[in-house]
Amino acid sequence: MPRDTHDRDPRYDILFEPMQIGPVTAKNRFYQVPHCTGMGHLRPRTLAEMRRVKAEGGWGVVCTEYNSIHPSSDDLPTPSAALWNDSDIRAHRLMTDAVHEHGALAGAELWYGGHRTANLMTREVSMDLQSVPNAVGHPFQTRAMDRTDIRNLRRWHRNAALRARDAGFDIVYVYCTHTYLLSNFLNPRINTRGDEYGGRLENRTRLIRELIEDTKEAVGDRCAVAVRWAADEQVGKDGQPIHGERREMFEMMAELPDLWDINIADYSLEMGVSRFIKEGSLEPYMDFVKSMTTKPVVTVGRFTSPDAMVSQIRRGVVDFIGAARPSIADPFLPKKIEEGDLSAIRECIGCNICYSGDSTGTPIRCTQNPTMGEEWRKGWHPERIEPAGSDSSVLIVGAGPAGLEAARALGQRGYRVMLAEATTELGGRVSRESALPGMSEYARVRDYRLQQLQEMVNVEVFLDSRMGVEEVMEVGADHVAIATGARWRRDRYNGEVYVDIAAPGSEPLILTPDDIMAGRMPEGDVLVYDEDGYYMGGVIAEALVANGNAVTLASPSESVSEWAGKTSERWRVRRHLAGMGVRFALAQELTLFDGKTATLADVFSGENTTLDVAAVVMVTARAPVDALYQDLMTSVEGDADRLPFTLKRIGDCEAPAIVAAATYAGHRYARELDNAPDPDEPLKHDRVDVGETPEGAHLREE
Ligand code: ADP
Ligand code: SF4
Repeated sequence: MPRDTHDRDPRYDILFEPMQIGPVTAKNRFYQVPHCTGMGHLRPRTLAEMRRVKAEGGWGVVCTEYNSIHPSSDDLPTPSAALWNDSDIRAHRLMTDAVHEHGALAGAELWYGGHRTANLMTREVSMDLQSVPNAVGHPFQTRAMDRTDIRNLRRWHRNAALRARDAGFDIVYVYCTHTYLLSNFLNPRINTRGDEYGGRLENRTRLIRELIEDTKEAVGDRCAVAVRWAADEQVGKDGQPIHGERREMFEMMAELPDLWDINIADYSLEMGVSRFIKEGSLEPYMDFVKSMTTKPVVTVGRFTSPDAMVSQIRRGVVDFIGAARPSIADPFLPKKIEEGDLSAIRECIGCNICYSGDSTGTPIRCTQNPTMGEEWRKGWHPERIEPAGSDSSVLIVGAGPAGLEAARALGQRGYRVMLAEATTELGGRVSRESALPGMSEYARVRDYRLQQLQEMVNVEVFLDSRMGVEEVMEVGADHVAIATGARWRRDRYNGEVYVDIAAPGSEPLILTPDDIMAGRMPEGDVLVYDEDGYYMGGVIAEALVANGNAVTLASPSESVSEWAGKTSERWRVRRHLAGMGVRFALAQELTLFDGKTATLADVFSGENTTLDVAAVVMVTARAPVDALYQDLMTSVEGDADRLPFTLKRIGDCEAPAIVAAATYAGHRYARELDNAPDPDEPLKHDRVDVGETPEGAHLREE
């Protein structure tokens, strides 16, 4: 459906001013800072198309993720980009050409990992300032760098900069944050070298200054040189920045690069989940920066509001609006502001599922933007979609994230859509979960879609409409999608079967997150038993503490909220819960509860301990709410072809999973209606093909 667009509000004109960065000019102030994608050098076409879409969406600068400058900095299984040889130049060209097509600048971040890389793929020895253990848990130590190593590093960096230039990049980064090698050179506690690269401030900044100068000398006539820099040294216990010598250091280099890309020391704050960190949170840590340099400054802050962006610029905090996540959730954010189409902005919810792609070594995905990562593989575009393949009608049952997204995308295609929801509220799980502590931004998943649906005359929404077989038949739709979701279970899965934990003959108070979300709060001491491992266990524990319960969080995992490590939130979760008095019982399996005493078995020794609690909340697994689907199938004895409509179940009702899987399932259903791909070969596969040239691998489209 075409949207009514208006001219942009003159208040936002400042965001669209061209900005000079050294020898190049960005067409506006929207700057997609380097961000990881789980694609890197492994999936060049997937990556190039994803970045192209952002340039098309109006970002004035589009950067790569971190580019390894040499095989002795290899992050696999987390795929970085690379600038090692000519093949990398060709791969990057796909991206730079695509970005330039839309008048945007392309930036490349050069990177050397040091003690954070174990070089598992290349088997090179990692180098850092000293012989230290790998920082991310691999049993490999680094070699201490000598002067020859430093000379080599400078040469590799220079060569990588030249390759970046030859690949068509307009901005080349010296990357000295995020605890990688260069940031260690700056760190007074780490860099105690006795030579000209260690000790006093001037020596510790020497290598960075040399790299800026080397890069300028090598490519500075054509490319801007940017520095990624942490404005503070540490965050104090009170949450306030400790600047230490950072200001003094910054002053020494303030005019050297063409652009400053500012971060902060605490990554879990810089890229914090919305449970803990809100829009614009870096400002107190870096608000001094612009007063100390004449060079343009960019930083991030999960900015989705154009008013907040304008305020940052007008108040002299930044020159560019940096974004990783807002550009993932809505690659067309700048265009929508430019066209005055603010209500169409798909705001990031701060869940960090995008980051989990990097943590798991798989291509990026996004809760809000189901097309993210599928631009090349499936040809999905975040704003455009195939028109309807027929004039048929579609009934969608259930208005959670899967049903809402299916209705929105089918409506956009032009189908006649009926969306039936049993309750009086739309949004399903995101509406329920957004009422839990810290989770309010999850409601954006619902709100964006509702806003879009309101503008579609071909979509009808029916609230308070519980559908059974008869009601579905009465509608007479040509297609029916069942998106009826899932409910938390009261039992647990022991690896083979679901088992009840209620002691025989007892009727203990065993609750689930659905009970807590429905306001059924227990009294007294409570055990939250977390086998899910993502955010729900911690959030429920927090809700119970707020209710006045004394809470123990038990889990068979050795970590609190283990999977939430992949979204970089688990460390904050643990600190947050501990701070509010939650006790932990880790590596413990709940075996029995009689209403007064819970029995926990140590997962290693099997030894039992007991805990006196009045209630247990089980955060274990979910059961699909698929009775309607099953009843419809039973009505035709399991032969779907006999139904007067096509039938599909989507989202949690098919297989309970994260919210991103539900929006993806809804979107996929809509895309594939009358347009089904070959079910036997559903995926295009991006890979390096070694087939044809004996000299080595080259890229060929499958
Ligand atoms: P998902 O994450 O897959 O979108 P949710 O659990 O968030 O699933 O949402 C499922 C929605 O379906 C809920 O709002 C629920 O009220 C609704 N629902 C469940 N059964 C029916 C039914 N028989 N008729 C209509 N709506 C239903
Ligand atoms: Fe934002 Fe979540 Fe999408 Fe990442 S996955 S961009 S945090 S909505």
